Amino acid sequence: MNLELSQEQEAVRRLAEEFVAREVTPHVVAWDRAENVDRSIVKKLGALGFLGLTVPEEYGGSGGDHLAYCLVTEELGRGDSSVRGIVSVSLGLVAKTVASWGSEEQKRQWLPRLTSGDAIGCFGLTEPGTGSDAGNLATRAVRDGGDYVINGTKMFITNGTWADVVLLFARTNDAPGHRGVSAFLVPADTPGLTRRTIHGKLGLRGQATAELVLQDVRVPATTLLGPEGKGFTVAMSALAKGRMSVAAGCVGIAQAALDASVRYAGEREQFGKGIAGHQLVQELLSDISVDVEAARLLTWRVADLVDRGQEFATAASQAKLYASEAAVRCANNAIQVFGGYGYIDEYPVGKLLRDARVMTLYEGTSQIQKLIIGRALTGVSAF
Ligand code: FAD
Repeated sequence: MNLELSQEQEAVRRLAEEFVAREVTPHVVAWDRAENVDRSIVKKLGALGFLGLTVPEEYGGSGGDHLAYCLVTEELGRGDSSVRGIVSVSLGLVAKTVASWGSEEQKRQWLPRLTSGDAIGCFGLTEPGTGSDAGNLATRAVRDGGDYVINGTKMFITNGTWADVVLLFARTNDAPGHRGVSAFLVPADTPGLTRRTIHGKLGLRGQATAELVLQDVRVPATTLLGPEGKGFTVAMSALAKGRMSVAAGCVGIAQAALDASVRYAGEREQFGKGIAGHQLVQELLSDISVDVEAARLLTWRVADLVDRGQEFATAASQAKLYASEAAVRCANNAIQVFGGYGYIDEYPVGKLLRDARVMTLYEGTSQIQKLIIGRALTGVSAF
């Protein structure tokens, strides 16, 4: 694998870095305190092509490869994980899945709007009673003539209250042992679909996370994404690439922890000298830096596999597992470098830890990643 970025990749990375410095960093603390990212950011992300990376240009996408996508995701995550998550979900989990599984009509209906930021997508898999065991979901879609009627509740849905379209997973076959789950593209304004913002999150506080309740939501059969009964495969294919995106976001958190710690260690003095000159502070900094590099290399490896059309699901789980745990370690070490100042939100590192923590939980907890990796190693499913 060539680890040198191409001119195009470096250009898009720099564009994202400049965007974050201009449009995100000045507002991060306020958005976090208000539990609300300014929604106008979505159109700005779309205008620069960040919501269309890897999507074919004929559907409004901005092309680019998966390494470019990871670079942008890392820069956004370095600035604010709440903003990064908007892209990871609307592009990474929804638009890319429509591009892979959608009919021509579905692609033309949704992709230009999603990639421009005119519309936002959310991914409705988790339910109050089923998280890790997502294949066991209880939401039901019953065929009625040319329609499906959907009933159920979805929990913890990122972009949930902002979304114009829900990539929704519902059971369409109840036969014993049958994983009869199907995927639907449900317009969020369909009658019977109500949304409630979930407040009080530990991290990603600026992000619109919601509970979705579906009561007799009637959608035409043309909203089916992929064949009926293949929804679980659709979900798992989306999540495999999604894990690469989460890993890239975690690299951004870890890099931000490193940047802030090195800067602070260079400014703060104790015992008559800069704390950067204390060996145990250098240990914290060097530990963070090794985690950053290791997480980044694992993530880039996934992007490289995807771009070369190779099998990547296990590598994505490895990258997501390592990078998310590393992001937590790095942010925690950064707080140690900052001492008491790391504990208040005028300084950036406390938020990094709060934002990092969920990365080990969503798109498959660390335990679930280990089971995926273990199954690939042994051929035995331990779920
Ligand atoms: P559970 O599955 O109940 O797990 C609880 C504990 O049991 C965990 O430690 C888990 O690792 C462990 N466990 C479970 N099964 C096993 C096993 N077989 N072996 C070992 N340990 C096991 N979901 C969406 O669909 N769309 C979204 O956009 C989305 N965004 C989210 C945003 C946030 C901020 C959060 C917090 C969650 C989001 N989720 C989303 C949901 C997320 O994916 C789930 O929370 C996650 O999959 C874990 O499910 P759970 O919370 O039900 O935990």
